[in-house]
Amino acid sequence: MSDSLLDRANKGIMGLKPYEPGRPIEQTQKELGLKNIIKLASNENPLGISPKALAVIASKSDLNRYPDGNATKFKEKVASLYNIKTSMITVGNGSNDLIEFVAKCFLSEGDNAIYSQHGFAIYPLAIQAAGATPIKADAKNWGHDLELMKNLIDENTKIIYIASPNNPTGTVLETNDLINFLKEVPANIAIFIDQAYFEYIEEDKYRVSFDLVKQFPNLIISRSFSKAHGLAALRLGYSVSSEEVSDFMNRVRQPFNANTLALAAGIEAINDEDHIIKSVKINKQGLERVKIAFEKHDFDFIESYGNFISFDSQKDSDLSFDFFLKKGIILRSLKVYEMPTHLRVSIGLEEEIDIFLSVLEEYKRSLNA
Ligand SMILES: *Cc1c(COP(=O)(O)O)cnc(C)c1O
Repeated sequence: MSDSLLDRANKGIMGLKPYEPGRPIEQTQKELGLKNIIKLASNENPLGISPKALAVIASKSDLNRYPDGNATKFKEKVASLYNIKTSMITVGNGSNDLIEFVAKCFLSEGDNAIYSQHGFAIYPLAIQAAGATPIKADAKNWGHDLELMKNLIDENTKIIYIASPNNPTGTVLETNDLINFLKEVPANIAIFIDQAYFEYIEEDKYRVSFDLVKQFPNLIISRSFSKAHGLAALRLGYSVSSEEVSDFMNRVRQPFNANTLALAAGIEAINDEDHIIKSVKINKQGLERVKIAFEKHDFDFIESYGNFISFDSQKDSDLSFDFFLKKGIILRSLKVYEMPTHLRVSIGLEEEIDIFLSVLEEYKRSLNA
């Protein structure tokens, strides 16, 4: 046996490039010697955590005890809100966990899973880590091309990952189109619909209801607490699926994958209507302001249904990213998403948008100079 240890690693690991998160504020402050940094890079809720969730975290003293591995109270809360069974729910350490659980459940070497060009970067990573082959479906108008995704299915296809709204493009699918897709795709392929930005969707025709899971046992819908609910640091998400699929997903998770603080905060956050409404409202207003500025300065942008928007910076996005960074604004370069000149900006607070818009104007002038 002459292979080295690393040669013998899971084949999927060889080509894996880890997900690159948005640059953290503190490190950027240090590196650039800037006092004020605005992070508009990770689609976090700029209003912060729900005050009710924060209060319950402060009240928790049983942190010497393991969390409730079954997330009983949390699941009961979600189940009663949406009129589903607790056994249909799988809880994740962020909704990222769910993406991986599905991959672990259904994929091994020789299998493939389909995702969209400009789709969320975690899908191909999870597919590859499971030893399977990611199949990328070219996007249509920056969004998912369901027809093409359907045509790419072969006998080894086990999962199709779809985000609606999609990150980083912000595109959304009509629920009717998704339903037609679900009717046409073989029932032995898992369809994972990632709804990390669900709360920001205002029109019913784009909202996917958990009831669909009752009609389509191969459907898995995930939601996150990291975006509108403002709990990104706590890591909490969940999926709703058939009881049987949920049973499988629960077999591959760590016994205590969601922690006590996250579960308690999640129950409060999901109930905190005021905070959600406020968060959605400031997002809508901010998005509108940013779009008007893009139009004014002739930057093409992609219509977004999330809490972020992507625009064509008209030059290499590593360079445009740097321009904003040096002015103290952390954005996201979309090069790794095959969008070589696009930047993504998360919608911040009013005063953060003020600063972004004034730097955008400077940036525009620098292009013309
Ligand atoms: C942010 C995001 C997630 C991950 O959210 P967590 O719950 O923090 O793991 C999942 N999917 C999409 C499309 C996202 O943008």
